[in-house]
Amino acid sequence: MKIAKSSLILGLALVLIAGMAFGYFIKPSAPSEDHLAMIKNKSIAEQREAWIGIADSIRGELAMEGKYDCCLDKPCWYCIQKTPGHGEGAECTCRQDILNGEHPCGECIGEILEGHGLAELKPFYAKAIAHKVGLQHEEHLQDMINDMYPEIQ
Ligand SMILES: [Zn+2]
Repeated sequence: MKIAKSSLILGLALVLIAGMAFGYFIKPSAPSEDHLAMIKNKSIAEQREAWIGIADSIRGELAMEGKYDCCLDKPCWYCIQKTPGHGEGAECTCRQDILNGEHPCGECIGEILEGHGLAELKPFYAKAIAHKVGLQHEEHLQDMINDMYPEIQ
């Protein structure tokens, strides 16, 4: 019993130290030239992994402040780059855009039509996408949305 308890404490301490180390390494807000050069020297697969990690961190931090508010099951990547076209400084406002009857980012338009949007936004999708591609397409878009999200009436 005593051993189990002390190993639990040791485990917690290790998790804490690892967490602090992780926090330390992801903290620098502007990566130095060296850091960028280091990543660029890696394989494409490793660069991809680093890029996804950074994008996840951007989305996570902004989401905590309510500034990454996407309309997809899995939040889009595009808004991080497409700024200020959608949100300011890597923010995402795609969900609110749709509620306002305005089109979301291009990635979200594609993903919504593939059925990867948030189900509760179904009533707003056709109008919001028609805002981009032409109001004359709204009815047809609604047919497509109905096919893609059949479970929600
Ligand atoms: Zn988006």
